[in-house]
Formats: sequence, C-alpha cells, structure tokens
Amino acid sequence: GRSIVGSAELFGRGQRVITGGNARLSVFQRPHPIYIASGTGVNIVDVDGNNYLDFLNNFTALIHGHSFRPVLDRLHHQLELGISFSGPTKLEVEFAELLCRRVSYFDQIRFMNSGTEAVMYTIKAARALTGKLKIAKLEGAFHGGYGPIEVSLDSAPANWGPRSAPNAVPYCEGTPEWYTADTVVLPFNELGATREILEGNKDKLAAVIIDVLPQRAGLVPIDRSYLAFLREFTARHGIVLISDEVMSFRLSYHGAISRFGFEADLCAFAKIIGGGLPIGAVGGPSQFMLAFDPTNGKPLVPQSGTFSANPMSMAAGIAALESLSEQSFQRFDDLGEHACSSLTEMFRRERLPYSVTGMGSMFRIHLRPEAPKDYREAHAAPEQQEKMGMLIRALQERGVIVSPTCQLCLSTPMFTDHIDEMVTSVREAAQMVEAARLE
Ligand code: PMP
Repeated sequence: GRSIVGSAELFGRGQRVITGGNARLSVFQRPHPIYIASGTGVNIVDVDGNNYLDFLNNFTALIHGHSFRPVLDRLHHQLELGISFSGPTKLEVEFAELLCRRVSYFDQIRFMNSGTEAVMYTIKAARALTGKLKIAKLEGAFHGGYGPIEVSLDSAPANWGPRSAPNAVPYCEGTPEWYTADTVVLPFNELGATREILEGNKDKLAAVIIDVLPQRAGLVPIDRSYLAFLREFTARHGIVLISDEVMSFRLSYHGAISRFGFEADLCAFAKIIGGGLPIGAVGGPSQFMLAFDPTNGKPLVPQSGTFSANPMSMAAGIAALESLSEQSFQRFDDLGEHACSSLTEMFRRERLPYSVTGMGSMFRIHLRPEAPKDYREAHAAPEQQEKMGMLIRALQERGVIVSPTCQLCLSTPMFTDHIDEMVTSVREAAQMVEAARLE
C-alpha cells in the first residue's frame, strides 16, 4: 500500500488554521485530501512521493497537463518583465484577437479572474441590456458562486418539486428569498415543459443561461432540438442567450455552442483559457458586449478587477491556446470515445452496474446501470455517495485521480496507454468496492 502520512500530517496542521482543514471545498475529501508536491505531463506526485495519473487536471483547467513547456517558457519570460501593472498590456490585445478569431460570432471580449466572475458579468449585462430581471437556468447545472444562479444543484430530492416545473432551490443556507426569486429552473432536455415555463415568463426574462454539457447535471450533452428551440425562443423574445463554456470550451476549437451549430449572445469562459493560471472572460457580438463599454460615459455594467487581464494569465493563456489546434480537439474526440467505449464495455463484461456519460475530452462514471439523462437521474442518493467515495479512494490507492463526482478529463500529453491503464484501475477499484459491499 501507499503511505500518505505526509498528507495526513498536513491536514492535521491545516485543521488548526484553515476552516475544514483545506481551503477549497471541491478538493476536500474524507478522511483527508492528498497534498500535491509537483506535476509533470500526465503525472502528479504527492508529498509522500506517490505517483498518480491525473485524470482531473485541476478540474479540467489544465488541458496540457502539468508543467507544459510552452506555458512555462512564456511565464518565465513575463515574470522578468513584470507580474501585474495598473495599465493594459499588449498581451491582452493579442489574446483577445486570438479568441475572437477562433469563436466566429465574437466581436469582443473582456477579462476577469474566474468562471464565477465571468458568469456573474454575463447575467449583469443581460439584466442591464434588457431592463428585465428574471434568469432561467437548467436544473442541476453549476455556474459558480454568484448568488442568483447558485440554484437547484445538489439539493435533496424532497425539495425538487415536479419534474416538469422544478423548484428554484437555493444552494447556500441563508440565501434571502428575494435573491433567487427571479431565477427560473428549466428541466434539462425536456422541450415541452421548458417551452411552457418560458412562455409563462417570457416578458420578464433577461437571460437563459445554458451549458451544452453540464457536468453536475450528469455530463449529458444538450439535445440539438432543445438547443435549437432555446436559441429561437430567446431571439424572438429579446432574451439574452448565455452559454457557460467555463468547462465546455474543451469541446471545440471554435467554442462549445458552435460545436452544436449555434451562436450565443454572451459567452462565459475560464479554466483552459488561463493555461493553468486564474482567469475568466466574457465574449460575444458587440451589441451585447457594449454593456461594458466605458467610451461614452459610465458603462451599464462597470467591470474591472485588480487582476483582470493580468499579463501572467494572458501569457499562460496565449501559450496554452496556441498549442491547441483543431487537430488537438479531433484527437480528444477519438481518445474520449476510446475511453467511454472501453469503460462501458468493461462494465458490461464484468457485470458491474455502472455507466458512462460524456463528450470530447470529458466523461463521467455513474454508479447506476443505465446512463442518466439529467440531474435527477444523475443525483446520487446518500448510499450511492458513500459508494462513490469508496471508489474514488480505491482509485487513488491505485494511482488514478478523478473528481468527487467521478468525472474524468483528458490532457494533450495523454495516449491510449494512459486510458487503458485508467480503465484497468477502474475495474479493480469497482470490483473491490462491490466485493466490500457484499461482505
Ligand atoms: N461554470 C462552470 C460550468 C464551471 O464548471 C465552473 C467551475 N467548475 C464555474 C462556472 C466557476 O468557475 P470558477 O471555479 O473559475 O469560478
């Protein structure tokens, strides 16, 4: 077995000075998280010297894995020139040019420091531009920590309400009722019920916010016909269609919604576009981006940020994206397909009651025999959550890192061999979990 005493000790120290022991909920783990010392390519090494294959890549942000040479070189160069200034740099112009070239419907872009901020500014812009208040979101989709959108995710089934008309359930205790009163929740991929809800709210809706591959809602791709309806409905009623591509920008060189053949009005980016450094961005056609424009007086939505467009994040982002070609995405599709079919085939062969969802470089293992279709089906009951925790720890012991919901993602230095190794580890871990439960 692997020794993780160093991690246990750091967690003990952390518990005295950091609430909960470590400073980020998403990486909290019982009995304690693994503390990382370094990473190279597909591998990370923990403080006890154990090696892992990283299938989480800082929650999908590190598309090139760890210590990617072009990013490091750019960062070293920029480090000597200056880390941040109270003025713009050439890098932000170059980076904006790059992104607007790739995402064909973008005229302009602005930068922030996180996906949470990016989503927040798209919502503020939609409300300011339309003069309306309501926002609609897909049930179960995660869009970061901005209050009005932090609704109906990981809530107890007793609070869900009818499938065809989901309740807006606040995620955070202490949320005032008025804060989420204008948030409307749509049943994912259910066209009839969604049409009815939107019809009832159309005059008050500022925005419909979607993720074409919502991770927490099961990592199930949006139906084309459902997306076509949302695009047409929002355009017809003067509602801003926001695409949250914080994670799903991984799907395509030209943007996630573009992969489905559509364009958004405003789009939120983060994660991979920062090359591993903190970043957020909002882009879109100029008639929507003008919400942020200060050239004719105070903008509708003042957007700033001490570290927004800082040259380190710009430099890392440019290097990361310049090393991602259209062929890189084709390769992700092929490798991702191989991963999903290998896992599915293995579960069938070994009679393991598990299933897989996903698209492109992202996939998720579910502890149910049939792949879920939405948030409600993907939701893990307490007993399942316990089993999921066991599976994740068993994978860790075999040297494979996945997310707390058993989401996995690829990085460019990965090859078929890494995937096959992961599939073997999942088989062993799952068999161990199932055997333990029979005892
Ligand atoms: N939107 C989506 C779809 C996300 O996956 C995340 C982060 N996992 C966010 C928004 C928030 O991004 P950040 O963590 O950078 O604030």
